[in-house]
Amino acid sequence: MSLLDKFRLDGQTAIVTGGNRGIGRAIADGLADVGANVVVANRDEETGRDAAETLADEHDVETLWVETDVAKEESVMNMVEATVEEFGDIDVLVNNAGVVSNYELQDMPLEEWERIFSINATGVFLCTKYVGQVMIDGDGGNIVNMSSISAILANYPQPQPHYNASKGAIDGFTNQLASDWWQYGIRVNNISPGYILTDMIAEVRENDPELAQIWKDDMVMDEFADPEVIAPLAVYLASDASEYMTGEQIVIDGGLTIR
Ligand code: NDP
Repeated sequence: MSLLDKFRLDGQTAIVTGGNRGIGRAIADGLADVGANVVVANRDEETGRDAAETLADEHDVETLWVETDVAKEESVMNMVEATVEEFGDIDVLVNNAGVVSNYELQDMPLEEWERIFSINATGVFLCTKYVGQVMIDGDGGNIVNMSSISAILANYPQPQPHYNASKGAIDGFTNQLASDWWQYGIRVNNISPGYILTDMIAEVRENDPELAQIWKDDMVMDEFADPEVIAPLAVYLASDASEYMTGEQIVIDGGLTIR
């Protein structure tokens, strides 16, 4: 097997939560590009179906869209059931779906704290629990969680303590689960991106150029990145190319955290 062959996922089944747009869409594209059959799991039907169809057309793989709300247990169970029915097994889970908002803690309603945690943290728990059971019953697999540099530093000047805490939860979860689940042949790793140009960030760049400039000033590379920069790392962590790696948090941020 050549070195590049270790990155291939031919015939494997990968679920990407939030695979319809942004970073998740780019990761779904990367996984399909190396041969994986991809399940796009998100809420919005139009973009979800479109992503699944485009991936199949462009990469000659099988795809499926499953309407999924990662914060709801029954919806996640349905996602797993539909995937197993279609593909028989699950090899890769990318827990990418996530949401952000800005609030000073003293003004934050409990409902907002709970909304962010239900998607960013509980969603990762639910998807990992039910997909993990299929991996445990099968041949193991690889889980990639989407954390953030917000788990390791304070964002400035926007206040987002609930978001940062939810991403910190993912880091702790990844460490512990990597240790618990290696016995089943399951590896668990994190990606921690910096500021990536998705809907979340594009809105700020357009409406608040001063804030965008503050963020850019922190970066060595001095510019936001397109979501596509995350895909090669996700493929690496989802494939045998990273066979000796588990429980890691990989930062990819244009040099922001070193400043
Ligand atoms: P976007 O805002 O572009 O997209 C969010 C994605 O999450 C959509 O696909 C959305 O699907 C999905 N989603 C949200 N809530 C749910 C839910 N309850 N159930 C299922 N899917 C849901 O986000 P990004 O691409 O920017 O971010 C992706 C991940 O990367 C997130 O976890 C985010 O925290 C993380 N991240 C992003 C950074 C950035 O700079 N962009 C930096 C660091 C981390 P739908 O359209 O159906 O709602």
